[in-house]
Amino acid sequence: MPMKRNNDLAVKADGYLAEIQTLAGNPFTIMEICGTHTVAIAKNALRELLPDTVRLISGPGCPVCVTDNSDIDRFLYLAAQPNVITATFGDMIRVPGTEKNLQTLRAEGADVRVVYSTQEALKLARENPNKEVVFLGIGFETTVPTVAVSLETAKREEIKNYSVLSLHKVVPPVLKLLAEDEKLVVDAFLDPGHVCAIIGIEPIRFMAEDYGKPGVVTGFEALDILEAVAMLLRQRAEGRSEIEIQYKRVVKAEGNLHAQEIIKKVFEPVDASWRGIGLIPSSGLGIREEFAAWDAARKFSLPIFHSKETPGCRCGEVLKGLIYPTQCPLFARHCTPLKPVGPCMVSAEGSCAAYYRYAQGS
Ligand code: SF4
Repeated sequence: MPMKRNNDLAVKADGYLAEIQTLAGNPFTIMEICGTHTVAIAKNALRELLPDTVRLISGPGCPVCVTDNSDIDRFLYLAAQPNVITATFGDMIRVPGTEKNLQTLRAEGADVRVVYSTQEALKLARENPNKEVVFLGIGFETTVPTVAVSLETAKREEIKNYSVLSLHKVVPPVLKLLAEDEKLVVDAFLDPGHVCAIIGIEPIRFMAEDYGKPGVVTGFEALDILEAVAMLLRQRAEGRSEIEIQYKRVVKAEGNLHAQEIIKKVFEPVDASWRGIGLIPSSGLGIREEFAAWDAARKFSLPIFHSKETPGCRCGEVLKGLIYPTQCPLFARHCTPLKPVGPCMVSAEGSCAAYYRYAQGS
């Protein structure tokens, strides 16, 4: 039976590749804006399977990588405060700030814990009533609902020693900025499956309708990506510019209404700085006034930092799709996953790390 399944998949892949070959024609550049897509493309060597005229480039799809240096220095400052337990997902531990990272702070005595969910962070707060537990909220729309639920729980149960430093970002405003960037030549987008499972396609429809940049909301298997590339080329051949859903087994056009509701209840749009890109209006999520007592930025009166980019790191250009990771002079020489210079090499979903791990050429 598994043999038959493998044969069926191979037949499907051949079918999509044949269609892509037929429709390839003039150059066509597609940007993926989800780190999981970046990894899947590199892991399955999909770039090498496509005709030369169909180019896949990576965009700002890794939430760790787009976190501005000033924000990293801000949470490092917070993590170094006495009586604070910093709860974070594991991918933030080695992200370098100007001088240190969470790992070095931990070695110096700071209490930094890796958690797998916000529920675990809440549990830490319940178990350590004399400490302040701060959860680092870094991620796109995909992870925001669970953080919102943790804040609602903390408020309802009056867990006063729990707070969140919200550095969350949302995808539609950065898409708009990319569409308006004259330096960036992108014809179409592989839209993020996990994010669209939450927000649906309405908030990104403007890309196709106002900017003529079609998109396909895509799943994470190699076949999903090949099918999405074929769908985008089909749109070009038929003179259409639409947002379509390839990942129908998970994504509904309206998204997850319950998740959208809870996000709106707890968070509000704020301007946010993106690494290498700059300040983008309404591209972040701040904690609403009703939850101010659980907002780490307010609770600890966190200062604003104005940190510089890491010298030599070209993460900003990588994130905007202006260069391939291999075009950074530090790539694989001075910057490796074991000794990362910038965040694009630290996060498993960072473009530089994906290129390094799967030895993808440009
Ligand atoms: Fe930055 Fe390293 Fe990527 Fe170069 S290879 S852009 S230094 S993360």
